[in-house]
Amino acid sequence: MGAEKHGLDLLAIEKKRVLVRVDFNVPQDERGAITDDTRIRAALPTLREILRRGGRPILMSHLGRPKGVDPKLRLDPVATRLSELLGVPVTKLSASTGPEVEAACASAQGGVVLLENVRFNAGETKGDGALAAQYAKLGDVFVNDAFGTSHRDESSVSGVARLLPSTAGHLLEAEIRAFQRVLDKPERPLVAILGGAKISDKLAVIDNLLDKVDCLLVGGGMAYTFLKAQGRKIGTSLCDDAHLETVRSALAKAGTRKVELLLPDDHVIAQKFAADAPSKVVSGDIPDGWMALDIGPRTQALYAQRIRTAKTLVWNGPMGVFEMPAFRGGTEAVGRAVAECPGYTVVGGGDSVAAVELLGLASKIRHISTGGGASLELLEGRDLPGISSLRTPV
Ligand code: AMP
Repeated sequence: MGAEKHGLDLLAIEKKRVLVRVDFNVPQDERGAITDDTRIRAALPTLREILRRGGRPILMSHLGRPKGVDPKLRLDPVATRLSELLGVPVTKLSASTGPEVEAACASAQGGVVLLENVRFNAGETKGDGALAAQYAKLGDVFVNDAFGTSHRDESSVSGVARLLPSTAGHLLEAEIRAFQRVLDKPERPLVAILGGAKISDKLAVIDNLLDKVDCLLVGGGMAYTFLKAQGRKIGTSLCDDAHLETVRSALAKAGTRKVELLLPDDHVIAQKFAADAPSKVVSGDIPDGWMALDIGPRTQALYAQRIRTAKTLVWNGPMGVFEMPAFRGGTEAVGRAVAECPGYTVVGGGDSVAAVELLGLASKIRHISTGGGASLELLEGRDLPGISSLRTPV
């Protein structure tokens, strides 16, 4: 970063209407009360800076996946919570486009304006250009601070960014810097840990990371497609037969690129996918009728050793069915080793973040990503539309 000006520093903000795309897609209980306001808090540094520099923030966000207007997904509870956290009045509008909204945004003085859920608009998720032009009328400049939706080419994310002077807010910038630190010239050894159930989501990540990492640790349900591809017996463990060939190519690529790709060699197994299923530890092959639901203690120790010596590390996906205490040991061991790792550590993806929080280790991780899908696309080496559309360098 250095002393060089970038991002928000380069945007003229004083007396300007600053349209900000935030991610206020917060969890709510059945009565609509917000159960976790982390995403609202995450936007505060950018909003405080805009207010301090005399700008007038006009905020846009989605909430849930409405099909048209859905009264349960209005942003009023968010406005109340935001006002409490920010300590300034928040004017919540009941729409996000049209002459009345334009007039309200033009006349707003002091405080913050929050538009209605942008996904009430047909065309938002399709990236409709006419809708983006309607949003662009509401601001003089645009700031994207919604990392969690930056992999989507949507009207309020990339569409409006192309039409106004635009840049990244502090949250988005921190995410970009964290992934740059992992993917561009990392301090070595660079270790990646991949887990979770769906291997199809991770194939492109594996392919890209094999060009960059020194060591790749694979766990979770996705490991068993690898083990089957190597000719091991995996019982009834998760396996995606459609991807056996791709996995064989990944194993070959790891060999050519001299990447140490480690797979579990002992497992916690059960006969059914249930929290109360009796379990045991086996090494090597998994017997017929049994499924692996976690990595075993020997694998945990080996992975922890590689993790502790990493200078840069990225982790996406749990090592087992961490939601069930009997199959949490692998994810816990890996989480503890990541927390103890003195290198630069990044955790991304909804489930690994949930695991780190469940284990009380979040404060020991250098960067916890706020976007599951977006972080996976960065690890795939892809450009995110919400970033590449910004007109001012981040
Ligand atoms: P994903 O959405 O692909 O990142 O997968 C996350 C899910 O994978 C979590 O809900 C875990 O419970 C699940 N998972 C991890 N390991 C296994 C396993 N060995 N068998 C079945 N599910 C698993």
